[in-house]
Amino acid sequence: MTKHVYTFGDGKAEGKTEMKNLLGGKGANLAEMNLIGVPVPAGFTITTEVCTKYNQEGEEATFAAIKGEVEDAVRATEKAMNAKFGSQSDEFPLLLSVRSGARVSMPGMMDTVLNLGMNDDTVKIVAEKSGNERFAWDSYRRFIQMYGDVVMGVEAEKGESDPFEIEIEKIKEEKGYKLDTEFTPEDLKKLVEAFKKVIKDKTGKAFPNDPWEQLWGSVAAVFGSWNNKRAIYYRRMHQIPDEWGTAVNVQAMVYGNMGKNSATGVAFTRDAATGEDIFNGEYLIDAQGEDVVAGIRTPQEITKEGSLRWAKRAGISEEQRKAEFPSLEEAMPVVYKELDEVQQKLEDHYKDMQDLEFTIQDGKLWMLQTRNGKRTGAAMVKMAVDMMEEGMIDEKTAMLRVEPNRLDELLHPVFDKEAIKDAHTIAKGLPASPGAATGRVVFDADEAEEWKGRGEKVVLVRTETSPEDLSGMNVSEGILTSRGGMTSHAAVVARGMGKCCVSGAGDVVVNYAKKEFTVDGKAYKEGDWISLNGSTGEIYDGKVATIDPELAGNFGQIMELAEKYTRMDVRTNADTPHDAETAFNFGAKGIGLCRTEHMFFEGDRIKAVREMILANDESGRRKALEKLLPWQREDFEGILKAMDGYGVTIRLLDPPLHEFTPNDEKSQEQMAKELGIPADEVKAKVESLHEFNPMLGHRGCRLGNTYPEITEMQARAIIEAACNLKSQGLNPKPEIMVPLIGTVGELKMQEEIIRNVAADVFKEKGVEVDYLVGTMIEIPRAALTADEVAEVAEFFSFGTNDLTQMTFGYSRDDAGKFLPIYLEKGLLKNDPFQVLDQTGVGQLVEMGTEKGRSAKKDLKVGICGEHGGEPSSVEFCHRVGMNYVSCSPFRVPIARLAAAQANIR
Ligand code: PEP
Ligand code: MG
Repeated sequence: MTKHVYTFGDGKAEGKTEMKNLLGGKGANLAEMNLIGVPVPAGFTITTEVCTKYNQEGEEATFAAIKGEVEDAVRATEKAMNAKFGSQSDEFPLLLSVRSGARVSMPGMMDTVLNLGMNDDTVKIVAEKSGNERFAWDSYRRFIQMYGDVVMGVEAEKGESDPFEIEIEKIKEEKGYKLDTEFTPEDLKKLVEAFKKVIKDKTGKAFPNDPWEQLWGSVAAVFGSWNNKRAIYYRRMHQIPDEWGTAVNVQAMVYGNMGKNSATGVAFTRDAATGEDIFNGEYLIDAQGEDVVAGIRTPQEITKEGSLRWAKRAGISEEQRKAEFPSLEEAMPVVYKELDEVQQKLEDHYKDMQDLEFTIQDGKLWMLQTRNGKRTGAAMVKMAVDMMEEGMIDEKTAMLRVEPNRLDELLHPVFDKEAIKDAHTIAKGLPASPGAATGRVVFDADEAEEWKGRGEKVVLVRTETSPEDLSGMNVSEGILTSRGGMTSHAAVVARGMGKCCVSGAGDVVVNYAKKEFTVDGKAYKEGDWISLNGSTGEIYDGKVATIDPELAGNFGQIMELAEKYTRMDVRTNADTPHDAETAFNFGAKGIGLCRTEHMFFEGDRIKAVREMILANDESGRRKALEKLLPWQREDFEGILKAMDGYGVTIRLLDPPLHEFTPNDEKSQEQMAKELGIPADEVKAKVESLHEFNPMLGHRGCRLGNTYPEITEMQARAIIEAACNLKSQGLNPKPEIMVPLIGTVGELKMQEEIIRNVAADVFKEKGVEVDYLVGTMIEIPRAALTADEVAEVAEFFSFGTNDLTQMTFGYSRDDAGKFLPIYLEKGLLKNDPFQVLDQTGVGQLVEMGTEKGRSAKKDLKVGICGEHGGEPSSVEFCHRVGMNYVSCSPFRVPIARLAAAQANIR
């Protein structure tokens, strides 16, 4: 026969932690606490399977099947608690709580009933036995209110207040009370009658006096609440299957509000903010759990040490502290000692920091809940390392304890905790690049540099950024754009710089002419202070203090372990020697993507670039390219040097040429003057470069195949740089990458140019270097024909930014307009430009890898789209057998940890 009900209490339990699926998380932990000798109010758990039965077969059949077991379980609870359910004798009655508890926590989504068992008879016994009439009647009226609401479905009329609250207000008004706490027992008795009448009037049924009827009604309500709107919505959001069902936990009530010898509180076995091994928490004497969190009374510290620290911060004298806010350690030393032992025991048992709830009823300690506690990124790292060193967990477990994304908190500035409390959010955009920034608004790159030169902190605000804004971005504390998604120029570049960026904030309307932006009609002028949270996308009014991160020793230890356990390498996307060095210091093993064009705006290069673009014929272009060659060679020497001995993937020119042209009249005129041609000619050329779909236009290898001289120059710059370094005794490893190919022919044509140039350079220099020629796989057709492509390519690098764009048909630059709405409506689970779409785009990646390796067994495969630094995507890359992932410098530690975790899992 199937067992439906599992009891616990008095140091015994029929369930245990491992039975979470059947008993729910809460039920399983309540059982486990009993088994390890922690005092828990007795009770029982009705299984999740019964919930499923209830929803399929209905109430009658289900309750008939479990009736006997529930009655036995209530009897066992009575025995363990030495109390009688619905007592008619003069013994203290057994009062129950009825709570939901699914496999995974669904906080506040389902129903709860407290103080069950109260009725016209038991209330009198409770009053007498507790010696506290007010407490008894208050508990009773709370029960009727909760039961009326949750079980009997009493609701407010449209546009009116809650009918129970109306009754409370009536008495308050009559008596001139301000607070509920002023109610006398007589008032509460009146309220009980009024509440019963509300139920009768609203439902046509009487409030049940029979405790058994109360119990069955409550169990049905909790099962039913699995299918309430809130719970269904929550399940959709978190992908929790409907068929899991919830368990029902029925447990003896204990009271922290029974007088001066009672208390209730919450505690953590270690410091959730810093990770230090310090027991801490808050409690209140003569109070219920909700009073601790409600903030009406000031909660007191549990330990004396914590209390002393708190008093010092709050400027409270030692005398006042002792008299009004003593710690639990001082106020109830015996119970405190027991609590301290219990917390240690629970942490040792669960081998993780625990978040506890407890109640002290008349000098006796009861534990109501234990679960693994939430913590900051820094605390996560410290606890994992400490627990490993204490011998509590092994290395692999320690590695898995740190959520990779949380490392971000250790790498970037964050807002000061106190300062952010008062900050006012004015709008929200996409969390494009993490960190916190505060500064004065400027609207263009030159001004950013100018203000910065005067020692000001600035935030650069643009509709969107282009490579022209690079220097301005570099000197800004943060960047805000009103358009663009997670792979927009601003987002990609900011992440590379490790700079805070909020992109695609649609409510921000930028007006360059007026030098202001507006949100909801309110204007922010040049020089006004704003603050950005690049981790959440929030934009704040004014200045908010930030604090710089510290890379403590524990972080290094986690990174060393990552090295030990990883199979894949982590490379970086870096365009400058500086970025390459940053990434190298974070442990990057090479460069997976150097976007050469990102250096075109350095110094005077842009002039030569523009000259090349504006040239009318090949010879004109060649003349301009001559000028660019030494610059590019110098760039590549710097980068190859910074990553000496490691592979450095340098990509040939990729973006459409119009990105580099002067677009306003003034710069067009200036350009014309410099080139000695009429301004009209410049204007006409710029206009001729206009494309309707630049992302699908004349870009990538299409440039190199229509203008082979560009590829020739770039290949020469790379190979010459490598030869020069080799002559200096270094070990450069260039890998030349052709972007945006769709057919093998496109790659083949580029490869021939590169190989011819390389042969020439080797001859000229009398030095040879090893180099590879490979390609990006970022057009679906390249993935579909990867076996053909691999005949030519020596490596593949998946450009999942473009691959996502072209597989979904979502423009990278315009998706910011609809993606947030798609996410809100549940049409997409994640932004596919952030989290790799494994089901769709992932198929192309997997197929491309397999097909590629079918033609070339040892083909080196990596990824260089933004997904290369996102943990779930990194795990996917590991699974499909990639050799490396590549990501922006500040994501390197995250990717390294994620890669090691993927391998451990
Ligand atoms: C990509 O498309 O994924 C990629 C890395 O190239 P880019 O972002 O420069 O187009
Ligand atoms: Mg691309």
